[in-house]
Amino acid sequence: MAETRHNVIIFGTRVRHKVIGEGQFFCPRCQAQRAYQHKQASRYFALYFIPIFPMGQLGEFVECATCGTAFEPTVLQLKAAPRSRPGPNDLSRLINSLGDRLSGGTPAEYLVRDLTAAGLDPDIAQDLVGKQLADGRRECRACGLTFAPGVTACAECGNPLS
Ligand SMILES: [Zn+2]
Ligand SMILES: [Zn+2]
Repeated sequence: MAETRHNVIIFGTRVRHKVIGEGQFFCPRCQAQRAYQHKQASRYFALYFIPIFPMGQLGEFVECATCGTAFEPTVLQLKAAPRSRPGPNDLSRLINSLGDRLSGGTPAEYLVRDLTAAGLDPDIAQDLVGKQLADGRRECRACGLTFAPGVTACAECGNPLS
């Protein structure tokens, strides 16, 4: 801050924030979905403390509207992260849809693979799918995949199941 008061002219620099984006993000401090403002700070030459012209960009930050914390703009990439990670919700959704997918023609082996990929122990996955097939199963002679009794054709090679 440079100032001269001899002739009543006061000049110096001020920092102004410009909003360059807004939206919803996952605030790491609130641990919740919040509104944010993406701001850009610029240094202005000021006369009588009134900003006259920009002197340079100082940087960008993302501010949470709820807790007021300023974050690096990379925080916006966190938005999708907590949802895309396979978690207990994905697993229970998979388990709940096992019966429907089997009778819809999905091979038992694919369901075991999906359950294992979502974090379930392979033995438990085998057991769960096996229980769904308790009243019978059909096997494709060409590719060896296992299907529910109501399925008439192999999803993989199209061979009829007998
Ligand atoms: Zn917050
Ligand atoms: Zn087949």
